Amino acid sequence: MSADRVIGVDLGGTKILTGVIDRQGTVHETASRPTVTTSQAALLDELEAAVRALPADGAAAVGFGIPSRIDQRTGVALGAVNIPLREVAFRTEMERRLGMKVAIENDASCAVYAEFHLGAGRGAHDVVMLTLGTGVGGGVVSMGRLFHAWTELGHMVIVEDGEPCYGACSGRGHVEAYCSGRAADRIAQRVIGPEATARDLVQQRHRVLDQIGHHLGVAMGSLVNIFGAQRIVIGGGFGLAAFDQLLPAARLAVLREALAPAGQELEIAPAELGAKAGLIGAGLVAFEALE
Ligand SMILES: [Zn+2]
Repeated sequence: MSADRVIGVDLGGTKILTGVIDRQGTVHETASRPTVTTSQAALLDELEAAVRALPADGAAAVGFGIPSRIDQRTGVALGAVNIPLREVAFRTEMERRLGMKVAIENDASCAVYAEFHLGAGRGAHDVVMLTLGTGVGGGVVSMGRLFHAWTELGHMVIVEDGEPCYGACSGRGHVEAYCSGRAADRIAQRVIGPEATARDLVQQRHRVLDQIGHHLGVAMGSLVNIFGAQRIVIGGGFGLAAFDQLLPAARLAVLREALAPAGQELEIAPAELGAKAGLIGAGLVAFEALE
């Protein structure tokens, strides 16, 4: 057994990405296979097979980044939106199947941990990440350590009794209802036409992006007030594509909402690690579990 390498697994809605990762966060052998969504049992079988298929002799642990809320005390995956995982003792089950130490973490938390160590969060102690993709994910690094809570930052209320949220979320006025790619698609249909998407808003440099940026900045202001974030990293397909256009209005809202001097000092940066962030973060979480 060597503690120099671990296996990272990034479980996404469409694919399972696996890789061997060293302590520096460098990704070595990787593999990818489609996510099995027929049943929970089939998905767990597929995850086991994906880990076993890696040439990872001597890996000391496995870290899973999964799109689910997690009870870290018990290792139970409470529920995922797009994949069949619900109330399953994920950590115990995978440790039994693989005979190795297993760590699990929310996928967005894995991403912020990777950006903190190797990407846009480098050099800061307190980093928050918001991933504006189809939905909005988030993660928090506080005093240099990953914050192991739900950090469902996309479901933070920014408009009381506002727009209804998506999917199984019964809430209103959540960040996801205003700042996700899906919300931007809906806004594009309203302001451009029925065929329009978020991509058209960005290409046209549409003024409505100021409104989305304002909502994002309001959310960021609260995150600064709660976590004392020095730097907020923005990721996700929509977040990166629209970053420059969202930033001016977001920054103004941060200056209003965040308590001084944190608002003036806040750095806002685009994510740097791309699609590998979740995989790298899953590996780093596995190393952390070995300590
Ligand atoms: Zn919500």
